[in-house]
This record gives sequence, structure tokens and C-alpha cells, in this order.
Amino acid sequence: MEFKHDVIIVGAGLAGLRAAVEVAGNTDVALISKVYPTRSHSGAAQGGIAGALGNEEPDLWEWHMYDTVKGSDFLADQDAAEILAKDAPRAIYELEHMGVPFNRTADGRIAQRAFGGHTSNFGKAPVKRACHAADRTGRVIMDTLYFESLRKGIKVYEEFYLLDLLMHEKRVVGLVAYELATGAIHTFHSRAVLLATGGFGKVYKTTSNCFANTGDGVSAAYRAGVSLQDMEFVQFHPTGIYGLGVLISEAARGEGGILRNRYGERFMEKYAPGLKDLAPRDVISRAMAREIREERGIHGRDFMHLDLTHLGKDRLAEKLSDISSFVRIYLGIDPADDLIPVQHTCHYMMGGIPANLDGQVLGENQQVIQGLYAVGECACISVHGANRLGCNSLLDLVVFGHRAGKRIVRELGDLAWNPMPKEPDKSFLVKIEHLKERQKGESAWVLRNEMQGIMTAHCSVFRKKEDLEKALAGIQSLMERYEKVVIDNRGMRFNTDLTEAIELGSLLNLSHVILVSAMAREESRGAHFREDYPERDDQNWLKHTLIQKTGEVCRLSYKPVTITRFEPKPRVY
Ligand SMILES: Cc1cc2nc3c(=O)[nH]c(=O)nc-3n(C[C@H](O)[C@H](O)[C@H](O)COP(=O)(O)OP(=O)(O)OC[C@H]3O[C@@H](n4cnc5c(N)ncnc54)[C@H](O)[C@@H]3O)c2cc1C
Repeated sequence: MEFKHDVIIVGAGLAGLRAAVEVAGNTDVALISKVYPTRSHSGAAQGGIAGALGNEEPDLWEWHMYDTVKGSDFLADQDAAEILAKDAPRAIYELEHMGVPFNRTADGRIAQRAFGGHTSNFGKAPVKRACHAADRTGRVIMDTLYFESLRKGIKVYEEFYLLDLLMHEKRVVGLVAYELATGAIHTFHSRAVLLATGGFGKVYKTTSNCFANTGDGVSAAYRAGVSLQDMEFVQFHPTGIYGLGVLISEAARGEGGILRNRYGERFMEKYAPGLKDLAPRDVISRAMAREIREERGIHGRDFMHLDLTHLGKDRLAEKLSDISSFVRIYLGIDPADDLIPVQHTCHYMMGGIPANLDGQVLGENQQVIQGLYAVGECACISVHGANRLGCNSLLDLVVFGHRAGKRIVRELGDLAWNPMPKEPDKSFLVKIEHLKERQKGESAWVLRNEMQGIMTAHCSVFRKKEDLEKALAGIQSLMERYEKVVIDNRGMRFNTDLTEAIELGSLLNLSHVILVSAMAREESRGAHFREDYPERDDQNWLKHTLIQKTGEVCRLSYKPVTITRFEPKPRVY
């Protein structure tokens, strides 16, 4: 079937929903999501949303901006970081007025807690800046925004899978989607498409991300010729449950939790004497990896302990109830009595589809691509630079989702209906037919496990040239083997065998792009730490990476970082 809507939003996380709320009511807008909308990963966000409300202690947006820029290891574009920090209080009060049930202070204001890298007075001391609803902040914001967007009359296509973007003379004219319930392929004709398809932690073996985070939107943009930005910057969160990767939010340390090594030492005192366990994630993940290398992991193994025992049962129940129950369910221990085994877990992608301050996607020569927008984790605006601070993602989603929505409404009058390509769904019909007919080859899950193993072993918290080269050769060989991937299920309804094979195509593409970008950057900055180039090198590398697909190969180029208020300085915590 062919559907037609003025605006199509792909992705029902907070980025897509916040944009939808802005556009709905003004125009005909449809939302497509491959998972049931409220199952999007945003609903798993635990710790909070950052904003200098100053409800618990004095705070200023300038301090928030400074922390964001310093946390990013000075790679964030400072015009974007300024908008993020300045607009935060408005965006959070707006959510409150829509009905988000934030925790409260004794006098009824929105409660705030400490989080990694959030400080007062330009780095002097930790400050309480994270607004939260216990440890299910994403869930309550998501339910509120979903309800609001339905109330405003958006049309939702749930469990529809974006296969490809449709372009006409370098403009976006719509997309092709696969309906999971029926196996039918549909085309969508539109004047504007907004991508809000989230991250792609599934490139790695251990991740806090949900199964749907396979980077389909980022990969589709790459295939359509868009350069991807800063893809080498992959965030590893220090506290995933050992062996599983399920997240124990930084809120646990914000509430007073402490990381300990096999001797019970609070090792972060050594690596970040100022902020200790509340240093940014890249700093803590590296410190943990060092402790493990130097045989101070628990029992000499590859994990550390998170100690919450001193917080007491009541505080755990009131402020950290979900993660306490994860620990009870997955590990069979009680955080009030036992130490929690934790290990770093792939958490967030700083890189993605380059977009300007209004979410308009930038194409060749950094010119706006008419009708194409990107916000949220799939985009790179770039507000997080080389390392994102906790609670700045939820903020990014609502601040830039709001701006992109407003921009679409303003621009729509100037966006024409462009013609669709002939037989737009043909190539996917053929591809899926071939996939179903093929009898011999390897299963997607075999290739996926190998890919995740390679990326985890060679392109994680520490990187070096030989490892990256090894990984690149491995991923290239997997890409060749992927040409002959086979599936067992040849049916039409909810064929997850088929969709997982398609998702693997995106993951392989993105692994390749991460590796090529990481090999080129011969310095250490934020989450990208090169053992063979351990220093930050502002002279040569204070710039954003761009990587573009040109035929079967890819081409790297660079663009300058926007610096407005804060000159790069060494990062000391
Ligand atoms: C466990 C966890 C806890 C976190 N806690 C916090 C926190 O406390 N504070 C904070 O600031 N950040 C937190 N983060 C980060 C933050 O939650 C994410 O960065 C953010 O939610 C991403 O939102 P999004 O709207 O970009 O995408 P998502 O919420 O990931 O949604 C992506 C959407 O895209 C859709 N989609 C993807 N591919 C396709 C396709 N091919 N076709 C159709 N639809 C598609 C999906 O169906 C989904 O609706 C956390 C992340 C995790 C994993």
C-alpha cells in the first residue's frame, strides 16, 4: 500500500514523541515505530533529566553548560551545549505541566539529585541537578508524551519497520517500511521525514541497550549518502550488572553508592580525587579497566563491586526501587546487604546523523537536506562531543525534539510534494524474496555473535592500531559472509528471523564506520582512548569526524568544533 502524510516521524522514543507533540494539531503527522511505541528504549531511562533549576542548592545554566562542554572533552559544539543548558528549566517545567510525576522536595518543588560530572561553580563541587521520578524517569516522561501526542491526534503505525529512505534529487520524499504483523511492504509519501530511531548498542556483546537498538535509521541515512559524524565515540557505562550489561543507574552513586576493588578500596579516590565516584563515565570506565588489568578486580576477575549497603533499606526502596529489584531478580542478592558485581557496558552513541540546532540533517558541504530531520540518540547535533554526561540525553531529546518540531511546522509551507521514485519498494521486495529462497549459508545470529565479540574485544574502552586493524578485517569478512545469510522462518507474520537478518545489515555497516573513524583519530579524547596515542591533541584533532559512503568504500573528512565561551583546557576531576 502507499500511505501519504505531510510529516512522518520514525521512532517513538522521547525524541520522536516530543517532536510529534509539537507538530501534531498543526498538520497531518504519522509516527512509525518498529516496537510498540511505549516499549522504546527511552522508557528504560532510570536516573533522571538534567536542568539547573536550583531547587536543592544554587545552580546556574552556565555551570551546566560548562560541565557539558568539559564532560565532552571540549568536542561538543558550544552553541548547542548553550541551548541545551539554557532551555533545560523551561523544558522540564513544561513536562511537569503536562503531568510528569517528578519526585518532590519537602516544600513541593521538583526534587534533584547528584549525578556524574554535574558541578557548581565551574567544577568546584558536585551539585544536585538531576530531576527524577524515582529510578523510572524515562518511563513516566514517555507515558506522558505518548498520551499527549495521541490526544493531539497523531496517526500511529505501530510495529512498522523502516527499511529505507526514498530520495528524489537529493530531497527526501518518503520511505519504505515493512509491516511486522503481515509481512507486507508499504511505501510512505511525505513532505518531511524526521528520524528519531535511537542508538545502536547492539554492536557490542554487553550493552545496557534494548534489543531494538540496532541503528536502522542511522544506517539508512548513511546508505542515502549522508556523512555520519563522530562515530568513534562510544560510551561505556561503568555499572552494568556483571555478565548481563543490565544498567545500574548512576543515580545509585548519586545517592551515595561507592565503587570498590578486591581489597575493598574506594579506588576512584585515586583517579578523580575531586568528584570520585561521580566523575564522568569515560573516566570511571577506564579506571575500572585499569584496576582489572592490575589484578585488583574482585577475586582477580573482570568486575568490581558497587556498594549500596550503607544507604539503608528505606532509601533504596524510595529512590532506587527498580534497580534494587533488578539486582534481586537477576543476581538473587539484596543491595541493602550485598555488594553488587558490576562491569562496564556499552551504553550510548555520541555520534550519529549530523544535524543543525533545529534538527535539520546536514548533507554534502554541510548544507541542509530538504525535508530530512534527525533528533535524539541517532543524531549528532553535537551536544555531547566525545563523552555524554548522565541525564543530558533525556534533556537533549526534549529540547531538540521540541526545536525540530517547531522548525518542521515553520518550514512545511515551503516543502513541496516531490515525485516518488518508480517502483520504490522493488529492491526490498527482491531482497526479501532472495533471503527467503536461499537454502545454504550462515544464520544471522552466528554472524551477529562474531561481530559483537570482535567489537567488544578490539574496540572498547581501550583501543590501539593493531586491534582496530584486526577488528576491521574481521568485520569486512563478516560483511562478505552476510551476503549469503540464511533464515529458517519463511513465513509472513512476525518473522523475527527475517527482521533480525535485516538489522544485522545495519549493525555491520555501523561497526565498520565506528572502526574506520576510530582508526583515523590518533589521539585520546573522551570515550575514545588510544593506548598508542594516550594524549588529547587539540592542535590536530579538535575537530569532528565525518564519514561518507562513496560506492563500496567510505571517505573521511573533518569539520571544526564551534567554540564560544570555554577554551579547551586539560580535563581534571
Ligand atoms: C538502561 C538505560 C538507562 C538510561 N538512563 C538515562 C537517564 O537516566 N537519563 C538520560 O538522560 N539518559 C538515559 N539513557 C539514555 C537515553 O535513555 C537514550 O539515549 C534515549 O532514550 C534515546 O531516545 P531516542 O528517542 O533517541 O530513541 P529510543 O527511545 O531508543 O527509541 C527509538 C525508536 O526508534 C524506533 N525504531 C528504530 N529503528 C526503527 C526502524 N527500522 N523502523 C521503525 N522504527 C524504528 C524504535 O521502535 C523506537 O521507537 C539511558 C539509556 C539506557 C539504555
